[in-house]
Amino acid sequence: MSTVSSLPESVEVSREVRPAPPRYRNEIGKFAIHRSSLCAACGRCVETCRHGVHVRPEGYLHVMRPFDYRCIGPGCGETESYCIDACAHGALKLSANPVSETMGDRRWTPDLLLSTWAMAETGLPPGNHLESEVGASGGGFDRLRFRFPDSPPPGLRREDISTKLELNRRGDSRPRIAIDVPWYGGGMSFGSTNIRALLGKARVAKAFHGFTCTGEGGYPQRFIPYKDHVITQVATGLFGVREETIQRAPIVEFKYAQGAKPGLGGHLLGDKNTPSVAAMRETVQGVSLFSPFPFHSVYSVEDHRKHLDWIAHVNPRALLSAKVSTPADVDMVAVGIYYAGGHIVHLDGSYGGTGAAPNVAKKNIAMPIEYAIGRVHEFLAAEGIRDQVTVIASGGIRTPADVAKAIAMGADGCVIGTAELVALGCIRCTACESGRGCARGIATTDDELLEMVDIEWCTQRLVNLYAAWQRMLVDLLFRLGLDSVSALRGRTDLLTHLDYEHEA
Ligand code: SF4
Ligand code: SF4
Repeated sequence: MSTVSSLPESVEVSREVRPAPPRYRNEIGKFAIHRSSLCAACGRCVETCRHGVHVRPEGYLHVMRPFDYRCIGPGCGETESYCIDACAHGALKLSANPVSETMGDRRWTPDLLLSTWAMAETGLPPGNHLESEVGASGGGFDRLRFRFPDSPPPGLRREDISTKLELNRRGDSRPRIAIDVPWYGGGMSFGSTNIRALLGKARVAKAFHGFTCTGEGGYPQRFIPYKDHVITQVATGLFGVREETIQRAPIVEFKYAQGAKPGLGGHLLGDKNTPSVAAMRETVQGVSLFSPFPFHSVYSVEDHRKHLDWIAHVNPRALLSAKVSTPADVDMVAVGIYYAGGHIVHLDGSYGGTGAAPNVAKKNIAMPIEYAIGRVHEFLAAEGIRDQVTVIASGGIRTPADVAKAIAMGADGCVIGTAELVALGCIRCTACESGRGCARGIATTDDELLEMVDIEWCTQRLVNLYAAWQRMLVDLLFRLGLDSVSALRGRTDLLTHLDYEHEA
């Protein structure tokens, strides 16, 4: 690992979309293509399929085993590029892949996982064979749809639509910071997640003039070249929080609670507390690490104000953010954050969290983010301060459609977490916390497991994901007839809920 003094102050990161194929030879796909012994190696399927399923490398006699994760399924039968019809020997068979159905859950369905992988590979919106907008939870974002006007206003052009988001609305002396897309990367600690994945997150933040966040595990030195895009999180354990890490950050975030586990502090099991994690957290290797809940120094808005004053004093240029879960009085909490001096109210709803959050907490506590956003938006507006504070929503933002719905309900922007891990190949097995961590090499600090990913690959997968999301968001704004994402804020009139459509 480089020492601080040998690290460059800054490095450039390209946001150019480039192919970033999966790391595995046989990635999981929605469909399976079976090539039987009837195959005569004529090569017709290679010439016919436009999706790269059939490949015969230069000089090879036989066609390779199909890359069937790229197959778009029976719908291809309507096109000229259907390999099943093209094969004169009847050697090809198409079927659903039962393995794909074993992945994910009702919020992160197999189709959402597969479509996120497709975007991370290509930088393009996924094909119509995948349901890429909604999951199957039966509520919330999954039951909301946009109402599109019959035609967009004349003269509106996609290239003129702005997806920028201003983060400092207080009009104070602190910097005005605008990010290129209305979302940024959420906090994941060194200890919970592989440093290479974390650096990929920092690099995509740099490429899109956005942010990632340290989470509660300290500030790895390797973040320094990206420091203008790294939020320092101050959480109850204060692991690795130092004056210099506060002074380095353009935004400092107080994490009061996480939506996935309100009332519970952080918890890193001993197996993941490796020597480097222990050094970063200034603790003992192999020991399970708990961070308390709550901050025992904060029991009122006045206490919170003292917290923010402390950071404002240590770093006179930082914007101040407070991340809170969504209790029943979340609207009062948001107003308190503003009056204490906060620039960003970060609402973390109940659906978020990786496999590190226990299911009993994740599924049973806190308010879904869809309820919290509207409540906070209206309360801040009634207080006359809505335009002086930025409201960021997280906890279950899976797609650009979720981002747009959250904004239409009253948020300014979103924070994403799991979607970034899915782009890196997460299958939502929820084993992040156990043993040495993730068998896919993502949520781990194990030296062998982390060899499974490399920084450039992580970066490119995330650049591609962000590019595809931005393109899909622009397309959605165009169809809604809006020239900027800020014009979407609070436009609940553009939404409809499938359960109440008949009442409209
Ligand atoms: S078209 Fe049929 S016979 Fe020809 S290479 Fe493909 S699977 Fe084999
Ligand atoms: S262990 Fe890895 S693959 Fe499984 S949910 Fe966690 S990050 Fe995803």
